[in-house]
Parts: sequence; C-alpha cells; structure tokens
Amino acid sequence: MHDVFISLGSNIGDRYNALLNARNLMTPDIVPVSFSKIYETPPWGYEDQPPFLNQVIKAQTELSPSALLERLKGIEKEIGRKSNFKYGPRLIDLDILFYDELIYKTDNLTVPHPEIINRAFVLIPLMDIASNFIHPFYNQTISNLAKAVEPNGIIEYRGQNE
Ligand code: ADP
Ligand code: MG
Repeated sequence: MHDVFISLGSNIGDRYNALLNARNLMTPDIVPVSFSKIYETPPWGYEDQPPFLNQVIKAQTELSPSALLERLKGIEKEIGRKSNFKYGPRLIDLDILFYDELIYKTDNLTVPHPEIINRAFVLIPLMDIASNFIHPFYNQTISNLAKAVEPNGIIEYRGQNE
C-alpha cells in the first residue's frame, strides 16, 4: 500500500459538491484516510476568476504513480471538467502532491508536485494532516515550508450549500 497526498480544487459550479463527489469517486482503489479542512482561497495565476475551494487528503492506494494520475484524470472528466486553459476556472482539479517519499519525473507527471512550496493553498491544508511530513526533495517539514508562504486571504470554508 502506498500513502499519497492529493490536492482537490474547484472554482466553478457547486464547488463543495465537486470536492465531495471527487472523494467519493476515488474508492475502492484510492482510499481516502484523512482530510484537511476545506479552505476558500483567492484565484492563483490567472486572477480574473472566482475563488477556489481547496482541500488536501491523504489516501492509500496500490496504483502506480502513472495509474494514479490516469485515475484522477478520469474522475476530473467524470465530474465534467470543461474549461481547460492553464490556471483557468475548473469544476475540479486533482493533483498528486506526494507519493510515499518518491521523487519521480516523466513528461506528464512530476512527484512531488513542483509547485507545493509556492502554494499557500496547498501548504495550509497540508498543515492540518501532515505538518511533520518531510518533503522528500527539499528535506524540510511541511510546517517549515508553510512558514515561508503568505496565507494571502485563505480562510476556512464553513458553508456547504451553494
Ligand atoms: P494544473 O497545473 O493547473 O493542475 P492541469 O490540471 O491541467 O493544470 O494539469 C496539467 C498536467 O499536469 C496534467 O495533464 C498532468 O499530466 C501534469 N502533471 C504533472 N505533474 C502532476 C502531478 N503531480 N499531479 C497532477 N498532474 C500533474
Ligand atoms: Mg491539475
């Protein structure tokens, strides 16, 4: 069994249910075992778009890294991701953050996800469930990495019905 961390993000439609559906569609071959709180975060990269809901989960899987990526892309498709320009609005975005302590890079998959250290919307939820996890590439704890980013308007999300 492999321990993986997956980030979930949505900024159009029923964002809360998109996160919920994505988690439900993961089983049985990806089994979520712990969940961060859900955060509402200002858009990143391309700023003229609605705010995101973001969450990070820890899950267990027997899938290889590339099979895991394909499964996550399948879930994105099933949830009906339409818009597809980089950093643009999306119904659901599922990224692999960590896969055990693996460091791995191919044309379509980089693990750990290369942007983790720059993204407060990933590091803040990671703090909820993995503050002592050591980033295998930078050899620093999530806690340490989180200290270096500005939390820039990221707030805990309490609503559920949109
Ligand atoms: P974003 O960078 O905003 O998440 P996309 O979701 O459209 O953009 O992803 C673009 C591509 O990034 C995917 O098709 C995938 O092959 C590649 N990719 C590389 N590393 C990862 C990773 N760790 N997790 C998810 N996708 C990744
Ligand atoms: Mg993605």
